[in-house]
Amino acid sequence: MSCRESDIIGWFDAAAESAAAQQTETLRRILWRNHTAEYLKKWLGDVDVHHLEASALESLFTSSMPLASHADLEPYIRRIADGETTPLLTQEPIATLSLSSGTTEGRPKYVPFTRHSSETTLQIFKLAAAYRSRMYPTKEKGRVLEFIYSSKRFKTKCGITVGTATTHVYASEEFKMKQHETKSYTCSPQEVISSGDYKQSTYCHLLLGIHYAEEVEYVTSTFAYSVVQAFRSFQEAWREICNDIRDGTLSSTKVTIPDVRRAVLEVLRPNPGLALKIEAKCHELERRDWVGLIPELWPNAKYVYSIMTGSMQPYLSKLSHYAGNLALISADYGSTESWIGVNMEPCLPPDKVTFAVIPTFSYFEFIPLRRQSHDTSDYQATDDFVEGDPVPLSQVKMGNEYEIVLTTFTGLYRYRLGDVVEVAGFHRNTPKLNFICRRKLILTVNIDKNTEKDLQSVVARGSQILRNTGAELVDFTSHADVGKQPGHYIIYWEIEGKVEERLLEDCCREMDAAFVDQGYIVSRKSNSIGPLELCIVEKGTFKKIMENFIANGAALSQFKTPRCTSNPVLLKILNVCTIKKFHSTAYAS
Ligand code: AMP
Repeated sequence: MSCRESDIIGWFDAAAESAAAQQTETLRRILWRNHTAEYLKKWLGDVDVHHLEASALESLFTSSMPLASHADLEPYIRRIADGETTPLLTQEPIATLSLSSGTTEGRPKYVPFTRHSSETTLQIFKLAAAYRSRMYPTKEKGRVLEFIYSSKRFKTKCGITVGTATTHVYASEEFKMKQHETKSYTCSPQEVISSGDYKQSTYCHLLLGIHYAEEVEYVTSTFAYSVVQAFRSFQEAWREICNDIRDGTLSSTKVTIPDVRRAVLEVLRPNPGLALKIEAKCHELERRDWVGLIPELWPNAKYVYSIMTGSMQPYLSKLSHYAGNLALISADYGSTESWIGVNMEPCLPPDKVTFAVIPTFSYFEFIPLRRQSHDTSDYQATDDFVEGDPVPLSQVKMGNEYEIVLTTFTGLYRYRLGDVVEVAGFHRNTPKLNFICRRKLILTVNIDKNTEKDLQSVVARGSQILRNTGAELVDFTSHADVGKQPGHYIIYWEIEGKVEERLLEDCCREMDAAFVDQGYIVSRKSNSIGPLELCIVEKGTFKKIMENFIANGAALSQFKTPRCTSNPVLLKILNVCTIKKFHSTAYAS
């Protein structure tokens, strides 16, 4: 480990040791910096923040400032987007807004983005890289095969730049610095990352990845979805990629954007030897259904690094399929609103990974959540948890679940992030969190309450049946159909490979029976919720859904398949593409 790496780990150890004091100090800095902002003044009044001790300020803040949702801050963000330059949320004017997907109900929301956002991104990238290199050292000046994508940025009529947070990061000075400071360089030039066309970018990422095959030290993307999606494309495009490698050309059908063509062609040189080698490997890989594709084609890669937790879990088995015996390292925990925690133990498998909270990044509070007894009398509740009063980071308890609340340097105050986490342990005095799920219920017809995590477990149970058939589940989503009485759940599956109808009937019944929520079970038994419906959609349906999101401003780097939808456009795509339907026979007496 280099000096620089031990420095940054030393910095984090010290911050974690004095986590409570760091938090009080972080809040003080946020409030000192922004005390003139209209939103702060509305709740804190004319208190002279400079004359209060940091701990008194903390008590004043948590007792005067209400918890907020995005909707509470939206009028202020709207005024910023419309060009108002008086201090609204922060003292410094905000010139950039990010589109957050994490808090959405199907449409992206604006969140302020400042220099602080890119600085903390650089900081956590360096910290995570230092932990990784302790376990899996990589060669200096090596290459990284990075499946990253910027979305288009646009300006509001008043000149505020809007785009996804990852897009702002890839365009920032800090992103360039990250490459120098971690001494590893992405295979693709900026023109590829920011082409705005994910298909063309993916082709170039793969082509340049092969071009630098011997130098690639690891393979990465923000969310695991993009790695899986890229290698699915590779299975179809490898012949053209090999042709381009052999001749030093760039397929004019695959890549048409002039800037991208120019930038990629500058790098490529004819390499018939490499093309021959890759072709031979691909023939062999095709015979074994592409198991171990990554280590075969990138023999010096040490690991695959990407977010594999939460809504990415369903892609893990495909990712392992491509990764063969290569280590899978689950990436850090953050959101457009703020970075939260780092994975300090890269050797842990994705289902065991925890995130140590970085106490200098934002001021974190935790709303204690207790799961409700599965008693149907509490059907008035809107979700499955009873809330306690928010506690500071220093008071969280091991084994308990919480919703995260953020106060950030970018002007969010006591903002409910909507993520449920569990305290799995501590690093010195900062908690290590397990990501549990998004809090919002996704499936509910009447007294039933099911979250994304519940749906994920049910789908995992149902798809077990496919295990020895050679077929696999590509992606899934769901919808609570209350249009007809009784309402019922619909689960949409896209499958690759052939499966007998009899087995799909079993999958459907198995999923219906696998919901453990008492509200659901009772309702199914009394038929106040109808039999679960499994709709099989044709190949490529989920790609169409992803493309629909991208067309509406999302970036592939941040894309997460919605696990439940009521969006009429998505439902139309799903219903038009449905090729088979099954109705569960579970609970049929
Ligand atoms: P976005 O708004 O697109 O930035 O997405 C942020 C959301 O992605 C978070 O609020 C989480 O729900 C989810 N997320 C981010 N990092 C992780 C992680 N390491 N594990 C699980 N979920 C994550």
